[in-house]
Amino acid sequence: MSDCIFCKIVKREMPSQIVYEDDRVMAFNDINPLAPVHILVIPKEHLTNVLDINENNADLIGHIHLVINRLAREKGIAEKGFRIVTNCNPEGGQVVYHLHYHLIGGEKLKNFA
Ligand code: 5GP
Ligand code: ZN
Repeated sequence: MSDCIFCKIVKREMPSQIVYEDDRVMAFNDINPLAPVHILVIPKEHLTNVLDINENNADLIGHIHLVINRLAREKGIAEKGFRIVTNCNPEGGQVVYHLHYHLIGGEKLKNFA
């Protein structure tokens, strides 16, 4: 999608701090980190949010979880704990409409309602 900022990051038309990449997935540091570790894990393919996951592409979510596990271990937050969040549509707090998983950790996180 030409006007999507995360597609531009995938195509390296916009700078980002990439921490992981393979043929299907990219992970980069959030520009406005909420905790010491705040990484966004995204599919390279433009999917709007979790509502775009279907029978044909559901294996991508498993792959994203493997990447999240790997990054959590690499960043040293696996044992202490971390949070994965994906926001969907306006009331879910989604701002960027390219599917992404927030990997947040590195400190005790506050619970939210
Ligand atoms: P959402 O609310 O859509 O789940 O979160 C979007 C996230 O993308 C926010 O945490 C925001 O800080 C991050 N973000 C927005 N624009 C950019 C950008 O250009 N680069 C990076 N690295 N992160 C961004
Ligand atoms: Zn996109």
